[in-house]
Amino acid sequence: MIDEIKKIATQNKKIVAIGEIGLDYHWNQDNKELQKTAFIKQIELANELQLPIVIHSRKAQEDTIQVLKQVKVAKKGIFHCCALKGDSIKQAIDLGFYLSFAGPITFKNSKNADEMISQTPNDRILIETDSPYLSPEPYRGTRNDPRNVKFMAEKIAQVKNIDIETIAEMTYENAEKIFNIK
Ligand SMILES: [Zn+2]
Repeated sequence: MIDEIKKIATQNKKIVAIGEIGLDYHWNQDNKELQKTAFIKQIELANELQLPIVIHSRKAQEDTIQVLKQVKVAKKGIFHCCALKGDSIKQAIDLGFYLSFAGPITFKNSKNADEMISQTPNDRILIETDSPYLSPEPYRGTRNDPRNVKFMAEKIAQVKNIDIETIAEMTYENAEKIFNIK
């Protein structure tokens, strides 16, 4: 299985990252050690393939950061659908990672959106849909698709006080850089 993946990834230029990989304690708390072991093995695979990682981290931010401190990630990566709080935001940035924001930053009840956005440097910020899930306001609850990234860009523009065209260019360039797709 793993050899198969390595073979496909080396032969196909369209494979630009390994992910989503990471820790999810929302759905399962009984297998934390197993999840960490799998996460580390997947990071090792990404390192071997010289690809960045796309991290899924849900209700597990401390452990996620701890793994990333323990295991060097060669080509760094992205916190997808980022929901980091407090110190973890700075730690993720300091470790060299990008933060990618999805629909929840536009939700009226989002507690940490402004904090995350304002603490993320312009050259580390990305936007995504997580389609078909997590549609932003004003389409929350409906099927998501890439047309909706503009609502994330709008929110970031507003918090950072930068025009939306600049946000669009910045996030485009950041995506080219982290995925090495220029
Ligand atoms: Zn995810």
